[in-house]
Amino acid sequence: MSRRRDRERVEAMRGLDPDYRGFRGHASEPNRSANAPLEAVTCSVCGRKRNVPRGVAIARGDAYVCSRCADQAAEATADADAGDEADEKQSP
Ligand SMILES: [Zn+2]
Repeated sequence: MSRRRDRERVEAMRGLDPDYRGFRGHASEPNRSANAPLEAVTCSVCGRKRNVPRGVAIARGDAYVCSRCADQAAEATADADAGDEADEKQSP
């Protein structure tokens, strides 16, 4: 009998928070930046176009370096005594 009430409550919550999916509503959220507008920016190192969040695109502008190149640069400076595997590794 109070089921309907709960439902109304969920609807109300939803009105406040568009991401609210009801109780236990953490339905897989693989990509947190899904809502962020993306912009194509050319990496200044490899010259490939990357879709990055707009804030990053604006902040970096022409000096944008994609995460892959940044990783490689970091590895290069860290003077690899670690192996070359873990190539495609992505940090969260
Ligand atoms: Zn790059």
